Amino acid sequence: MAAGALVLGPRAIRALAMGTAVDAATLVHAPGAVGAPPIVPRSEWGADESLRSGSRSFAPITKAIVHHTATLNDEPDPRARVRAIFRYHVQGSGWDDIGYNFLIDRAGQIYEGRWARDYEPGEPHSGEDRTGLGVLGAHAYGFNRGSVGVALLGTYSSAGVTASDAALGALSDLLSWKFATRGIDPHGASGYTKADGSVTSFANLCGHREVLSTACPGDALQQRLDEVRDEVADRMAASRAVSAAAPASVDIAPPPGETMPTPTESSHDDDERRRDRKRRRRDRESD
Ligand SMILES: [Zn+2]
Repeated sequence: MAAGALVLGPRAIRALAMGTAVDAATLVHAPGAVGAPPIVPRSEWGADESLRSGSRSFAPITKAIVHHTATLNDEPDPRARVRAIFRYHVQGSGWDDIGYNFLIDRAGQIYEGRWARDYEPGEPHSGEDRTGLGVLGAHAYGFNRGSVGVALLGTYSSAGVTASDAALGALSDLLSWKFATRGIDPHGASGYTKADGSVTSFANLCGHREVLSTACPGDALQQRLDEVRDEVADRMAASRAVSAAAPASVDIAPPPGETMPTPTESSHDDDERRRDRKRRRRDRESD
């Protein structure tokens, strides 16, 4: 975290929730109610930027969809795995870029997924444009617009293989930041306009299987999403308590342009839909 980008991080929030003293400096210049967790940028995991296309679509974030990557659980080289997934999504599936918005390894390291824009030094690699709109990924067919797709590296299909506490903690860090900024209820459900214009309602923080017929993110990870919802809610409540105590220092207003999604799609989305139809079978995650 660069100087001048001081934020209220999860550790500060936990400390405050427990009544522990926190340096006043941590409350200054907070861009949102919960600070951004550390995120490994694409340049650090070695994304070959010549592989991806430059076209992007953005939308207000209203949902988070959790995945597993159906890869090794004891990943020897997570960065190499993220590079391999990137190559597979672009060269194997024909997508514009890596499908996920973020990935998380077993040690709790968060990786920047789909490219949104270039960032200033020290700025969190948020996957958002400068107004806070989220870049559309390709992680849940028909549900990519306005959803943050987060994949935990590994395979959580069998009950004996559960996600690590570090990975789940990082997932909570990431989604607390995204949800607190926008006031999204992690225990709630809300209406969602799909890419085809139809409207459906589902949990704001959900597993891939809650919106599409898939085993993803595996029984063992799906079963732990209630813990993540509780943790995100706790952190948001703690940040609101801080906000009430120091209203001038914490800005919880949603970013400009934050509105409910509409059925209107850009021509790029139409283009993506055409290609999606061709690739419909492949577009579904193979898990
Ligand atoms: Zn999935």
